[in-house]
Amino acid sequence: MTNQSQTSFSETQKVWAEPFKIKMVELLKVTTLEERQQAIKNAGYNTFLLKSDDVYIDLLTDSGVGAMSDRQWAGMMMGDEAYAGSSNFYHMEKTIQDYYSYKYIVPTHQGRGAENILSQILVKPGDYVPGNMYFTTTRLHQELAGGTFVDVIIDEAHDPLSTHPFKGNVDLSKLDALVDKVGAEKIPYVCVATCVNMAGGQPISMGNLRELRVWCNNRNIRIVHDMTRVAENAYFIQQREQGYADKSVKEIVYELCALTDAATMSSNKDAMVNIGGFLAMNDEKFYDQACDLVVVYEGLHTYGGMAGRDMEALAIGITESVQDAHMQARVGQVEYLGNELAKRGVPIVLPIGGHAVFLDARAILPHIPQEQYPAQALAAALYVDAGVRVMERGAVSAGRNKQTSENYMPKLELVRLTLPRRVYTQAHMDVVVQSVCRVMEQADKIKGLRFASEPDVLRFFRGTFEEV
Ligand SMILES: *Cc1c(COP(=O)(O)O)cnc(C)c1O
Repeated sequence: MTNQSQTSFSETQKVWAEPFKIKMVELLKVTTLEERQQAIKNAGYNTFLLKSDDVYIDLLTDSGVGAMSDRQWAGMMMGDEAYAGSSNFYHMEKTIQDYYSYKYIVPTHQGRGAENILSQILVKPGDYVPGNMYFTTTRLHQELAGGTFVDVIIDEAHDPLSTHPFKGNVDLSKLDALVDKVGAEKIPYVCVATCVNMAGGQPISMGNLRELRVWCNNRNIRIVHDMTRVAENAYFIQQREQGYADKSVKEIVYELCALTDAATMSSNKDAMVNIGGFLAMNDEKFYDQACDLVVVYEGLHTYGGMAGRDMEALAIGITESVQDAHMQARVGQVEYLGNELAKRGVPIVLPIGGHAVFLDARAILPHIPQEQYPAQALAAALYVDAGVRVMERGAVSAGRNKQTSENYMPKLELVRLTLPRRVYTQAHMDVVVQSVCRVMEQADKIKGLRFASEPDVLRFFRGTFEEV
């Protein structure tokens, strides 16, 4: 059911038609099959190592690849590139306070810069950090600070076939079990992601977050919000949660943020800028500590690694990201792609997520054991077929346990088709659907992979592979 009260679209119209028209275009290059076969070999079967020039439709990520609006570009011209106290910082700060509720804002070059500062301040060696599923850089910073991540997402999130409407929910009984085991004083905060990336872009419900708030209040534990995709989460709450159909995405975003104590943001996702991030909080002492650290790692506390013009574009991008019509088109396009694939029998994670469609690589390549990285192999095969670039989200991304050096073997072995915001058209989506179906038909010809070179950390970015 689509919420009609929030839109001026008529019943007969596609509710997700783009609420913009195109003012400038970027021409795409089409390569030959032979060129792509060579390119993927040169890239060691890792789509992160392909050259963008060799890619036709780039669904690697939604990070920093969105199309800015004319208003954002106009804002770029208003950049106040002062080292200290740029007017764009104050515009950005006020926008974050007004839209996201947090009192204090520390800019960073991107999300992981905020994660680094947060983890260094709040996580002590021996601590445990529970979260609704891990994220690669988030968990690594917790581990580098001496903490141990503990997954407390509901079991349904690990089941690609479960159609639970809020697979991002936290299982409070798992939190209780953790407190029983290690004690509340070993838990500096609960990390709550909105629209959980690694679970397939799945939302947390407001009801669940409210219960978590009470649970944390009773134990004096903070909630830190990974708010990278908070607007997409708010849209799902509007569509699915009782009592929210008449609230705007903007109102729901504010309510979500206000239930938490601090946040890390990768603004190159939801907020549609090419680079940027911030750490936000309500606690003044924590803010002071963060200002001390940001000057070490990022830059002065009024720019933190961002140019003035980028802070201006971010301030404007935030206001556009919470518009209902934008979110309908954004999630509508993802749902279009997912539905077209599902109709043709392609196994995908359900419900379809907010930023991406996830293919179940285990189901598509049953002949490749997880130790031979079926999702990595499928991502490479998809590139070779039509030049569509996607990403592995399975055993390669999960990495190794730092203590035991064993490979983590996640239940979900997925390939992620991520949609940049406001970039591709429906015809592009149709090309992607055709390509996925072609690759599925010849799935038995795809071979497993092994590492040719494996970096120690975040190995999915720069690791190379060879066919088994
Ligand atoms: C992208 C992302 C991050 C890290 O942000 P960067 O800007 O890439 O450093 C953190 N959490 C989630 C959920 C993300 O998707």
